[in-house]
Amino acid sequence: MDTKLDPSRDDLPLMANTSHILVKHYVLDLDVDFESQIIEGTIVLFFESGNRFQKQSGSTKEPCRSESNEACRFRMPEPCHSPVTDTRTFSSKTRSNDFTICGKGEKDTSGKDGNHDNWEQASGISSSKYCCDTGNHGSEDFLLVLDCCDLSVLKVEEVDVAAVPGIEKLTRSPKLTVVSEELRNQIVCELVTLPADRWREQLDYYARCSQAPGCGELLFDTDTWSLQIRKTGAQTATDFPHAIRIRYSTKPQGRSVTWTSDQSGRPCVYTMGSPINNRALFPCQEPPVAMSTWQATVRAAASFVVLMSGENSAKPTQLREGCSSWHYYVTMPMPASTFTIAVGSWTEMKPETCSSNDLAAERSLSPSEADFRYVGICGHMEYPCRFQNPSATTQEIIPHRVFAPVCLKAACQETLLQLVPPCLSAAHRVLGTHPFSRLDILIVPGNFPSLGMASPHIIFLSQSVLTGNSHLCGTRLCHEIAHAWFGLAIGARDWTEEWLSEGFATHLEDVFWAKAQQLDPHEAQEQQELKACLRWCRLQDEVRNSPEEMQVLRPNKEKTGHVSDSGSSVVKHGLNPEKVFMQVHYLKGYFLLRFLAQRLGDDTYFAFLRKFVHTFHGQLILSQDFLQMLLENIPEEKRLELSVENIFRDWLESSGIPQPLQRERQAGAECGLARQVSVEVEKWIRMNRRPRKRKRRETEQVFEKLLPDQLVLLLEHLLEQKTLNPRTLQSLERAYRLTQQDAERLLCCTRTPGRLQVLNQHCQEAPSWPRDPRGSFGIKRERETIMESENGRSSPPC
Ligand SMILES: [Zn+2]
Repeated sequence: MDTKLDPSRDDLPLMANTSHILVKHYVLDLDVDFESQIIEGTIVLFFESGNRFQKQSGSTKEPCRSESNEACRFRMPEPCHSPVTDTRTFSSKTRSNDFTICGKGEKDTSGKDGNHDNWEQASGISSSKYCCDTGNHGSEDFLLVLDCCDLSVLKVEEVDVAAVPGIEKLTRSPKLTVVSEELRNQIVCELVTLPADRWREQLDYYARCSQAPGCGELLFDTDTWSLQIRKTGAQTATDFPHAIRIRYSTKPQGRSVTWTSDQSGRPCVYTMGSPINNRALFPCQEPPVAMSTWQATVRAAASFVVLMSGENSAKPTQLREGCSSWHYYVTMPMPASTFTIAVGSWTEMKPETCSSNDLAAERSLSPSEADFRYVGICGHMEYPCRFQNPSATTQEIIPHRVFAPVCLKAACQETLLQLVPPCLSAAHRVLGTHPFSRLDILIVPGNFPSLGMASPHIIFLSQSVLTGNSHLCGTRLCHEIAHAWFGLAIGARDWTEEWLSEGFATHLEDVFWAKAQQLDPHEAQEQQELKACLRWCRLQDEVRNSPEEMQVLRPNKEKTGHVSDSGSSVVKHGLNPEKVFMQVHYLKGYFLLRFLAQRLGDDTYFAFLRKFVHTFHGQLILSQDFLQMLLENIPEEKRLELSVENIFRDWLESSGIPQPLQRERQAGAECGLARQVSVEVEKWIRMNRRPRKRKRRETEQVFEKLLPDQLVLLLEHLLEQKTLNPRTLQSLERAYRLTQQDAERLLCCTRTPGRLQVLNQHCQEAPSWPRDPRGSFGIKRERETIMESENGRSSPPC
């Protein structure tokens, strides 16, 4: 039974049964074909069975290692550690009965009352609504459920890892004579739990195992959102093969990748950070708790560059004529949704005057910055962590490359290239250790639906940031860089709590950018206050023009982060098309963090933030993890009436404008730059009201030169006027030399649908302003431009 989504239900299902079995590593081996717009090949998944995440206690952190390898070696077929939950819950008759009922076509009725807040109903998705009729599959078999859609799955097989030469070293058996399922699973168990300092060896074993022959096809079935795999007779996750290979191909219309042309007209493909993440690129476990590493070999015609979330700066290997291969890997476990790939005919951009070494500039820590360094062990599962590497912790500027279509070379050289080092360095001064060892930045094609997107080791930037002065480029770059810490190294356990990545990145973008520009404290404060004025306008506008239930940052309240017994869950409103236009998570999150920083004082707040990063990098968090640690770490006298409960109530669990923010804005913050704008706005309003005959004299009125953000604020205020006559709009254009590009760029900032409507009306009255061929003022295009997507993600950090 292929269940269609209930159109009134806009939650995104995360189907994988991560409570029973977890992917620890993916090996992708893919060919990219631009003619057919298909990516095809194999993916090999290496599993660890049992549940290490259901209970968030420290004791479940390292099951296989702490429960000792002895179990793996001598007590097979016992599981190598005791699963926290009983794996039978999924493979039992209860489960099978669900199938029978569902397979007989009984309709699920959950959700029909429209109450989507009910967790029982949400989790009901996995237990009945989305189950499929897998035919006579045998009622006792364990079923592996992977998130998957828009893929053609051709074959699923068990991999005979025991056939890899030398693999017996992992088992410490002299020779592998009797090869059994248990032995193969034992090998994988040993492999996935190799200590962090053996990561190279581990990657090499993974690669070799992925090439090993198959040892039996597995039964599989697909439905709208998932791929289900079982092995006859394997009744528990522990018995299920721990290394499987899936042969599959993507579909041209698959929603995880976009096939298009770059600005030079050459074909390219990239992951777009869609609401459905990567499940139409490869079958995977989407729930964020499924943190895994990966490696990928991708082949394409030799004229293409393959960029990917990988910690190595891959170079192509020439294969047969006209084809080359690229290999990338990561050693830090992350949710599969953060993986990104882009293939196109891009050119690496280098500064015009190449300095001796603009990469990896290193400087030792000054004493005042020494508090970045915390002694002690990290709280995450084991991996080769930069926070434990003294030379990595002091690296201000990580190695980076910039790629773009060759036609954008001049624009990259003028703006982007010289901004990367100061922005990276500023981020390091504020937060300390860069969580990722290197960075690629790609200028993505014109149809990219947002200004930017951050993924491990790779940032996508819209070409819009290359136009005009460096301000937009710098702030956007800082925002994406901030996601390396918030959104990627520290992810949200529940993707509904998007503010944990977007609120932080928005707040930090101002702080990084002020440092990158080397502003003095007063200038920095003025600039940040101006930004606050702008965001305040937008937040008010958004609150007026969006559904109330979508204005809540922590809608699941105390149920936040909960998953069903199998591990499946939903992302609230994850499929709601309106959501992509909404900025409430950015704005309310930003104002909350700004409020906390002001309350504590910047020094106290940022010292805490570094400590927080040190404690939680490599892990998933919920809102309370941040707030609890914050309040525990600040002196009583600064805490005043702040409590986790108050912050939940005022900021995170209510719609509309948070009360403390309302009070603060009413008190009227002092900002010289915003005052200047108010003066100019008055002049324009007077002019707009004057009759036409005095036009000539009025256009000679002197208007002050404004900073880019001031100009945006001015337009925000003017748009609050009921009517702006065409004459005024033309004068605006002349006074501030608004080119089409400027106008588009500015409009990216006035982004909420309500505001765009107002703008549309105004602009239809102003023939000299840019229009698109459809006659309305490029609203479609702008709506696309302004869409922000988020990969840490039910969509990528942007
Ligand atoms: Zn660490």
